[in-house]
Amino acid sequence: MLAERYDVFLIDLDGVMYVGDELLPGSGEAVEALRRMGKQIYFLTNDPRYLRREFCEKLLRLGVSSQEEEFITPGWTAAHYLAQHSIRRVQVIGTASLRAEFANQGIQAVTTGECQAVVVGYDECTTLAEVEQAVRQIENGAWFIATNSDLSFPGKDGRQLATGAIVQAIQAACRRIPVIIGKPYPPMFQQALYKTGNSSRTVMIGDSPDTDILGAHQCGLDAILVERIACRYPAANDYRLPNARITTLLELFQHSSDFREWRNPGFPWPDTIEPGVTAVILNSQGEVLLVERVDNGLWGLPSGHVEKAETVTQAIVREICEETGLAVAVEKLVGVYSEPATQVFSYPSGKRTHFITLCFRCTITGGHLRADKNEISRAAFFAVDELPANLLPMHPQWLNDALDKAAAAVIR
Ligand SMILES: [Mg+2]
Repeated sequence: MLAERYDVFLIDLDGVMYVGDELLPGSGEAVEALRRMGKQIYFLTNDPRYLRREFCEKLLRLGVSSQEEEFITPGWTAAHYLAQHSIRRVQVIGTASLRAEFANQGIQAVTTGECQAVVVGYDECTTLAEVEQAVRQIENGAWFIATNSDLSFPGKDGRQLATGAIVQAIQAACRRIPVIIGKPYPPMFQQALYKTGNSSRTVMIGDSPDTDILGAHQCGLDAILVERIACRYPAANDYRLPNARITTLLELFQHSSDFREWRNPGFPWPDTIEPGVTAVILNSQGEVLLVERVDNGLWGLPSGHVEKAETVTQAIVREICEETGLAVAVEKLVGVYSEPATQVFSYPSGKRTHFITLCFRCTITGGHLRADKNEISRAAFFAVDELPANLLPMHPQWLNDALDKAAAAVIR
């Protein structure tokens, strides 16, 4: 049974222990049974509104006993995170309890004057003036911290806006990406792992594939989905696929044959999927054009994004002209590359993109070679048997594909 596979249970609250003010059937008994088996339990919630003590009191009102230390909340984790970074003055968008978390760590929540960080949580009384003040603080250099990224939740009169909607409004106005504390991002899982001594026999149990399951798998943990409506994902490597599915916590103690091992597929989970273009361009000596990228210092074939309203061939011709000053004509398609192990890229901003890249062989028709200093530091031709050592790992293969005269376009 699932309960025997693990020593540490990280349990989501809303949707697993309770919904609103109602305990879910079997959840209290399951927690008691896990305690009798000597298991460690931590409750991980994305709800930024309450203190850990208030969650503890709520469970007790519902008939489940727990300790305050067993709760890992985004407010508590954010306060620890900022205290560790010596932040002393913050603007808090959120409840009085969220502000109290910061006071407990010696961090002053201010409403006027300069601050070192803006923390966006959730309070239904949030005003536009507070949101605009947050934008100005961030533009003046304050850190941008979000307790969680959940966009909405079901309210009594329909869907209500949640923290993520406020965060996205600020993000859109000041074009900065926040540090997000809640699931599926690492900080709360890291707190849990720190408390449990990094036990490999740890599992996350939650009802959200996009936060609980994805977050656990990103941290290398197993994850069990409490599923009331069947959700399926098409790709076998999807991080949101759980190790097991249950409908109530009591199923942890039943015989189950439906268990799927989780193996990290060797690439980070991307935020978006985008079309990209790359070119193999040879000069009259048969040397290949490479560029050295400013962002990661690596050499690679010239490449770029397909912009809106553009064909893929227009995109590669434009990118080559912008990056290198050369005019080129597309000769043929070399290949289409989508393998996530090489095509998911992480950027310094934290964004991760999965590219579907079309590689073209191109011929030079004019222009003079120069490097566009915004994106590339150098552009040069290299003999194909003397490529630089710090070359993007998949590009030698793409070059070989381009030099294979007999081959039709490859698909990898
Ligand atoms: Mg939940």
